[in-house]
Amino acid sequence: MNYSIVFSLSSFFYISLIATIYFTKRRVRNSENKIYSLLIISNLIGLLSEVLTAYSNKLFPGMPFIQTILLRIINIYFLTWIMLFTYYVCIISGRTSKKVRNKMLIIYFVFFLALLILPLKVKTSNGMALYSYGLCVKTLYGITFACIMNIMLMLLTNMKTIKKKKFVPILIYFIFGSFAALLQMYIPSLIITSSIESFVTMLMYHTIENPDIHILEELNLERDRADKANNAKTDFLSSMSHEIRTPLNAINGFSQLILEENNIDTIKDEARDIMAASQNLLEIVNGILDISKIEADKLEIVNVEYDPKKVFNDVAMLAKSRLGNKPVQFYSSIADDLPDYLNGDYTRIKQVALNLLTNAVKYTKKGQVIFSVRSVKRDNVCRLIIEVKDTGIGIKKENINKLFNKFERFDKEENITIEGTGLGLAITKKLVDLMHGRIIADSIYGQGSIFIVVIDQLISDRKKEKVKEETTEVKKVNYDIQKVLVVDDNKVNLKVASKLLDSLGVKCDLVDSGEECINKINEGYLYNLILMDDMMPKLSGTETFKILKQNPDFNIPVVALTANAIEGMREHYIKEGFNDYISKPIDKKELERVLNIYLS
Ligand code: ADP
Repeated sequence: MNYSIVFSLSSFFYISLIATIYFTKRRVRNSENKIYSLLIISNLIGLLSEVLTAYSNKLFPGMPFIQTILLRIINIYFLTWIMLFTYYVCIISGRTSKKVRNKMLIIYFVFFLALLILPLKVKTSNGMALYSYGLCVKTLYGITFACIMNIMLMLLTNMKTIKKKKFVPILIYFIFGSFAALLQMYIPSLIITSSIESFVTMLMYHTIENPDIHILEELNLERDRADKANNAKTDFLSSMSHEIRTPLNAINGFSQLILEENNIDTIKDEARDIMAASQNLLEIVNGILDISKIEADKLEIVNVEYDPKKVFNDVAMLAKSRLGNKPVQFYSSIADDLPDYLNGDYTRIKQVALNLLTNAVKYTKKGQVIFSVRSVKRDNVCRLIIEVKDTGIGIKKENINKLFNKFERFDKEENITIEGTGLGLAITKKLVDLMHGRIIADSIYGQGSIFIVVIDQLISDRKKEKVKEETTEVKKVNYDIQKVLVVDDNKVNLKVASKLLDSLGVKCDLVDSGEECINKINEGYLYNLILMDDMMPKLSGTETFKILKQNPDFNIPVVALTANAIEGMREHYIKEGFNDYISKPIDKKELERVLNIYLS
């Protein structure tokens, strides 16, 4: 019995186990791991060849050349393993240059060829190969010795840089390797070198950059990322709570004053302030919705055909109306040669232009605000150049780079009376980015600012037909004989709706639940319109509407009146079968529009 085979066989099994674990796990992609993979593979081939060589005469009778081939493979395995191991020590010593690698590759191939052609003899016993000898084996000893010397040198010169745990397999290799060499001198047939190399390979598994360690590192990274996101959210919430409190404070304060005030002019004045604060609050909420959508990658650019001249003229009108009675001239120049129709997300383009114009108007006390839109056309692409220039307070040089950050507001003391959240430009920049455009800003502090947006839009083939101007004036309808049912679980909301309807001369009934609404209809009350809140306890507005529709005689128009105001909600409610949609807070003009449609 050749005892070496017992070692080889058992080593083969545990190296197979290590290989299975190692190759089925996710690995770190670095040179150390690549070399380790090769070490395992060469180990497996070497051990398998040893087992096969021992039994080659029995397994392949009459084919002695197979034994010679296997013995050469074993010698090449020893060469491969020691060279890989040496290169591994190079890597952990920091010697990873291409030059070192190429040098080692050349040495490897020279000796590889030598081991293939140099004479090799075999010692057998009872037809079983015991060991090989000859010039081929001597050459192998020579290169192995050179490699070991090289490893020692690298260890000695890089004591400090090599991690301590990496020393263990190398030292074990030296101790056990020397022991095996001594043993072999007395019992030449006892070849346990490959088993020692397998043992060292196994030990190395615990010292190389382990997949488990890497997964732990990844988990830590993920945890850090989650912590950062959480902190950003906390910052966001605290900023928002502060921003929301400001207009709320105005609403609350002026409301208290109104309660104690008897002079009707003062009351009207304060009511106007409340409206302005509410408008500001609404802008903050819309801003938060936009920012959170942009950050969650949920904001989509919806490209439709639009008339750019109309869009920019509307924007200019809106911006002009915000000037109030400030001594500021508003000039707008919308180029005549803009295409009739473009394809793009005009609501977002409008938002971008309006944000810039609103700022120009807000931060200019006197002088001018100039709005210009030009275009450069090439094939079917129209490059829109939107420019907003003002002679306002300007922005300091050091603040220009921070302009597009969230919640960034400058000269706070000076601008104390100017309302804002610091979200406008952050949203504007993100929208421009989403539309693959560019925005640049320049300013001279104390003299004024300029913002330029460049966005490419596709030119539509459609040409403008001469159509009669649509009348935007709202026809007044006589509401005297009409009645509206308002459904809302919130008493204040019911009061607001009833007061607004009252101010328009519309009679209404109020109910505070879906069930009550259904009861009223079932009891035969007649209404011309139902304004239905959606988010109500027990029966939501949508559920109530579904129950009402089950009655084939039910034909009252139902309009969703809800604070669920994020984008796409109108389409959502229309899809649910509602006739129309009004978002809260109720805009009186919007309410009038709906009443005009359904009560006329
Ligand atoms: P805000 O709601 O405060 O206006 P923005 O994000 O729109 O928020 O603007 C951020 C800050 O940039 C403003 O608070 C203001 O200090 C400055 N800013 C923006 N536009 C102008 C402008 N046209 N002139 C001067 N300062 C401006």
